[in-house]
Amino acid sequence: MSSYCVIGTGISGATIANLLSKKNSVDIYDKARGPGGRTAFKRLNNSKGFDHGTQYISPKSKQFKKFIEKLLKKKILKIWDGKHIYLNKIKKENKQHVKIIGRRGNNDISKHLINNIKCNFQSELENINFIDSKWKLDFKNNQTKYYDKLILTCPFPQLKRLSKKYIKVPFIKQKIKMDSNITVMIEIKKTNKNVSSYLFNDKILGWAAKENSKNRFKSNNDLWTLQSTSLWANKKINKNKENKEKTQRF
Ligand SMILES: Cc1cc2nc3c(=O)[nH]c(=O)nc-3n(C[C@H](O)[C@H](O)[C@H](O)COP(=O)(O)OP(=O)(O)OC[C@H]3O[C@@H](n4cnc5c(N)ncnc54)[C@H](O)[C@@H]3O)c2cc1C
Repeated sequence: MSSYCVIGTGISGATIANLLSKKNSVDIYDKARGPGGRTAFKRLNNSKGFDHGTQYISPKSKQFKKFIEKLLKKKILKIWDGKHIYLNKIKKENKQHVKIIGRRGNNDISKHLINNIKCNFQSELENINFIDSKWKLDFKNNQTKYYDKLILTCPFPQLKRLSKKYIKVPFIKQKIKMDSNITVMIEIKKTNKNVSSYLFNDKILGWAAKENSKNRFKSNNDLWTLQSTSLWANKKINKNKENKEKTQRF
């Protein structure tokens, strides 16, 4: 039986690890403190928290719809009801658009998929080498591990840095610039506004989600996740040294 190493516990890594683990030995590593990658759920305390990245899922393809329906039946996911206000003037609203979220956090999909797999968090892969038919993996926390097979699911810039000497197909040479996003998570006094989300028509603010409307916790205050437009974030993200040092990168 081959030993597999999967890097990343986002939806991609968790899905691949789950499928492979049916017939193989699989370990997962992630540089973050918990699972989910860009579907991360940031805790404010034991009960409350914010969906930091992915806000909701609205599956389009047949296979993905089928997969999501299974998770809805298992009560891992649920539909996010309420008043979703669409203010964007450029793109017409699709009224059929369903908003599906995790029952406890949007990283519930990853958590469910990797439930029975050994996960190593706070383990950032720094270098890979293929020696004597094994992948030698050096992590930032000074660990070195060996596996028969390696699957990297990190975002493209990180993937390119780690793997370019082993990937011969031309796509690895592409220059892909990731869009930035600046997210602010706030707890404020309760308002009477019965709104679940806003999609804005604004140059700076792209989206706001009221975490309370997801009915995951009770709170005397309102919790909001505010996400900038990528256009604005791309201009501002590296504007000053303080931002470079303090921003959390997925
Ligand atoms: C702000 C924001 C909002 C979004 N909103 C939505 C939305 O509403 N709906 C939607 O469908 N999609 C949304 N997306 C897109 C969606 O989140 C991503 O497409 C999806 O989560 C990507 O999953 P992934 O598994 O491919 O990558 P990721 O989730 O990025 O997973 C990669 C994992 O690899 C880990 N990793 C990276 N490098 C290393 C390394 N060297 N060593 C160890 N671990 C490493 C990372 O920590 C991460 O956990 C949003 C994305 C962002 C950033």
